[in-house]
Amino acid sequence: MAYQRERDDDGMTKVAVVYHHDFPRYGYSVLKDRIKPGYDSLMESGLADGEDVRVFQPEAAPLSLVEEVHTAHHMQNMSSEPYRDVALLSAGSVMLAADLVVSGQAQSAFAFTGTAGHHASRGGCWGFCYFNDVAITIRHLRKMGLKRFLIIDVDPHFGDGTRDFFGEDADVFHINFHAGSGKEFDRSRNNYDFGIGWAASDVTFLDEFSSALELARDFDYQICFLIFGHDSHQDDYGGFDLTLSAYPRMAALLKEAVGKKPLVVVLSGGSNPDVARRAIPDVVAVMAGKWPI
Ligand SMILES: [Zn+2]
Repeated sequence: MAYQRERDDDGMTKVAVVYHHDFPRYGYSVLKDRIKPGYDSLMESGLADGEDVRVFQPEAAPLSLVEEVHTAHHMQNMSSEPYRDVALLSAGSVMLAADLVVSGQAQSAFAFTGTAGHHASRGGCWGFCYFNDVAITIRHLRKMGLKRFLIIDVDPHFGDGTRDFFGEDADVFHINFHAGSGKEFDRSRNNYDFGIGWAASDVTFLDEFSSALELARDFDYQICFLIFGHDSHQDDYGGFDLTLSAYPRMAALLKEAVGKKPLVVVLSGGSNPDVARRAIPDVVAVMAGKWPI
């Protein structure tokens, strides 16, 4: 695959949506109920009727690659885990999304998942996560020659698994929103934590999101991952007190900041089908330049 191809807007798919029907069937029980409603609503929106938004089906991430990323002990623990296969497929979804944008076949991508990834560390996991989809994908991209990555995690739970992988790695700029309090920036290692509180409003979140993007402005990354958990909605199970209007505004700020660089949005926490029905098409619409739908 021609990974360093010149990116050219002409004829390029604006948003690659990566989806597999196993995600709503076999995904983690808390997460899976929102997957099909979110996807169906996206299809019903008309956004995917033309060439701008196209759907792709992933394959499972190669086991040999996953074994390079996670410890033998973790792999052993996962061997009898019922969600193992859908977790490998979820990692494959993020990998395909990244391949499509880095190769220039799509400007951006939205990767559905059946399990989440950001609480999966090298040697363990918790919180509906089994394999770290983004860490596996970065390993894959580094084999292709990419070096510098931006990860913005807006799931309201702290992305401890991702930090375990990249906490010491200054070539991965890790911005992490969470429902605790206080900001902690480790500029030498490029770790930036935004504790914006359990009750953070749309205004607070979007203001802090803007300042996080500003921090990353001069970091010369080659691809951006947004770990998107809509459990931040006031009617979903996680922290923050966001409304539906926060997500397209977040996506618009991100799209402007990322510009023509590759962007992958990775579905993370969230269980409320009503939130997914709106939030997912809204984010994709902004990415496709078709907002409002
Ligand atoms: Zn979460």
